[in-house]
Amino acid sequence: MITMNEVWKTYPNGVMAINGIDITIDKGEFVYVVGPSGAGKSTFIKMIYREEKPTRGDIIIDGKNLAKMKERHIPLLRRRIGVVFQDFKLLPNLSVYENVAFALEVIEESPSNIRKRVMDVLDIVHLKNKARFYPHELSGGEQQRVAIARAIVNNPSVLIADEPTGNLDPDTSWEIMHILDDINQRGTTVVMATHNKEIVNTIRKRVIAIEGGRIARDEMRGEYGYER
Ligand code: ADP
Ligand code: ADP
Repeated sequence: MITMNEVWKTYPNGVMAINGIDITIDKGEFVYVVGPSGAGKSTFIKMIYREEKPTRGDIIIDGKNLAKMKERHIPLLRRRIGVVFQDFKLLPNLSVYENVAFALEVIEESPSNIRKRVMDVLDIVHLKNKARFYPHELSGGEQQRVAIARAIVNNPSVLIADEPTGNLDPDTSWEIMHILDDINQRGTTVVMATHNKEIVNTIRKRVIAIEGGRIARDEMRGEYGYER
């Protein structure tokens, strides 16, 4: 479902962030992306949702080659890939409900179907009772759960999470992990960059370690493998 063939990325300033990556991630997998700071994890992840373009090589998602994709087709791609960030990125002037509904790509859906879809995803993240709240009225963990609801509302085949627990305390981080695991169990492929050693070593999944822009390790039920 996600394939990279001989992918290289050099930024315009000459930094070589990714130096020849070959990888396949199958439908329904849960993958942790780990590695030291500056190793290339964010660049790797950003190329999957086409925030960055590879300098060389192919990235194929659901049969589409992102490297060759025309700019006008990118919005369509983004609908099939949900993204969650460390800093949530919610719209402060919209309620929880509106933040999620806003992301929903409405194609001649009746208002009652839209409402049902939004409430269904708020249920998955256990926030149905806070639909009318605004982001500043929520804890950090709740804001991240809204961001997750927004990321999955279009039923994407892949959910990308870039350090989703980076701003959260340990208990809240576990809550977020249980939700991501639940979403994965429902069939969505999850690719998560993280520095959370405890989580990686406890909820065992495939671990892809990136060092110096190359794959240093790729293990099923792998370990975090760094001090922090
Ligand atoms: P990680 O997520 O593992 O910390 P990154 O992918 O953010 O690593 O960065 C990999 C390398 O690319 C680093 O040397 C970083 O400074 C550089 N880099 C990241 N983004 C940019 C950019 N937009 N322009 C130039 N260099 C960048
Ligand atoms: P945390 O433990 O992450 O610091 P808070 O103490 O900020 O969480 O919030 C605890 C609970 O109180 C959360 O469920 C949050 O939604 C609710 N809450 C916090 N601030 C407000 C507010 N201004 N209005 C309504 N509910 C709030």
